[in-house]
Amino acid sequence: MSGKVLIVGRPNVGKSSLFNRIAGGRRAIVEDQPGVTRDLLEASCEWKNVGFSLVDTGGLVPDTEEDILRKIREVVQSEIATADAVIFLTSVRDGITPLDEEIAKILYPYKDKVILAVNKVDTPKEEIKISEFYSLGFEEVFPVSAVHGIGVGELLDEVVKRLPKEGTLQRQEGIKIAFVGRPNVGKSSLLNALIGKERVIVSDVAGTTRDSIEVPFEWNGEKFILVDTAGIRRPSKVEYGVEFYSVGRSLKAIDRADVSCLVIDCTEGVSRQDKRIAGLIERRYKGCVIVVNKIDVCDRSREDLLKEVRRELFYLDYAPVVFTSAVKGEGVEDILKQVKAVYKDYSKQHKTSFINRAVKSILKEKSPPNYRGKPVKVFYAFQERSKPPTVVIVTNYPEGWKENYRKFFLKRLREELGINLAPMKLVIKGRD
Ligand code: GDP
Ligand code: GDP
Repeated sequence: MSGKVLIVGRPNVGKSSLFNRIAGGRRAIVEDQPGVTRDLLEASCEWKNVGFSLVDTGGLVPDTEEDILRKIREVVQSEIATADAVIFLTSVRDGITPLDEEIAKILYPYKDKVILAVNKVDTPKEEIKISEFYSLGFEEVFPVSAVHGIGVGELLDEVVKRLPKEGTLQRQEGIKIAFVGRPNVGKSSLLNALIGKERVIVSDVAGTTRDSIEVPFEWNGEKFILVDTAGIRRPSKVEYGVEFYSVGRSLKAIDRADVSCLVIDCTEGVSRQDKRIAGLIERRYKGCVIVVNKIDVCDRSREDLLKEVRRELFYLDYAPVVFTSAVKGEGVEDILKQVKAVYKDYSKQHKTSFINRAVKSILKEKSPPNYRGKPVKVFYAFQERSKPPTVVIVTNYPEGWKENYRKFFLKRLREELGINLAPMKLVIKGRD
């Protein structure tokens, strides 16, 4: 697992310029699925042999200052738990603005992760002016010029210091699963029903916050690893509000798991919080099984519940749905059956020749419409990775792959590759 770095700042300080400077040409158009706004831009980067993923929040350009702050607050809430470092970008041209001060307040609780950078320091003359930025309250101030590349190396040295050292985690074998969902939906009850009380409680030490709890277990000859135990160990002290805490925890578990079991309480239906967590799973391209729990006390029919789940969580249309009663032990083994099926698709890896044949046959059926009067061609295609299955298409006009066509293409590609139960990523690239 490599680290994650966010760039945060008000509009026009140069976030996208810095992102491009660091990410270079590694940006790609990534298949978007409906349902969740994907206003973050992500790229895999490397500095001095350390890999990390860089997330730019610069895609968001809301109109009012209030909107900007709301957006930044949202992004910080949803991403901070899994981020190792945050580059808080400001600009020497404007000095400290009221908006900078507000953003500093949002970031201050996480100040150990924050690296304050002052952009547009294009000449030594401007470097003198950066001392005022110490008043924002962060330890150090890094002058950079995104446009000229000045200071970016020093900034990255600091970023890399904060990333997790790779290779220190012991690797366990098995399908990694997480149980996520709102409090009280029955996550711990389901876990206990599945793998026995003792084993889960063994890993529960009151008052400690541990980042990686992994409980290996076996079912029907298949190895599983339960990551995190959200809901089992209740926090005694909640620092940033219950809402944030549970989302942050879920997020960590989701990031580490191959398949997330999203537990929903059928007596309450699909709530906003459920949708938020579902959105996190979808956005991270993780496998998912939707678990509709407490059917023993629900007066609605399964068809009715299924309809609601499919309607409200339409962006997780690839996720199988199971109905369970943790207290009666009903349906709980179906969860693992479905996890296995999802994982099979999630970890599928096809040969390049197979991918190319599939792509060819889809193109023959329907190719992308001409782009600026010129035909859109595919040079070659391959599966870059599994978990999630990621197919790269190298084309003469990436811009010519409009959303409608991409949707059609992905749907057909799923059919050709037999990937129905897991998310899939389609990357459309030009020839470098
Ligand atoms: P964002 O809104 O924060 O993503 O900002 P952009 O990256 O779009 O940059 C806003 C403006 O600042 C653009 O006109 C950039 O060319 C300019 N800019 C960005 N970085 C620098 C820099 O290091 N020096 C100077 N002089 N201008 C910069
Ligand atoms: P968690 O916070 O998601 O881990 O939820 P818990 O497992 O602690 O369950 C919350 C409450 O719901 C407890 O009182 C459980 O006994 C109850 N509960 C959990 N699953 C079921 C179920 O399938 N049926 C019924 N009737 N109650 C359940």
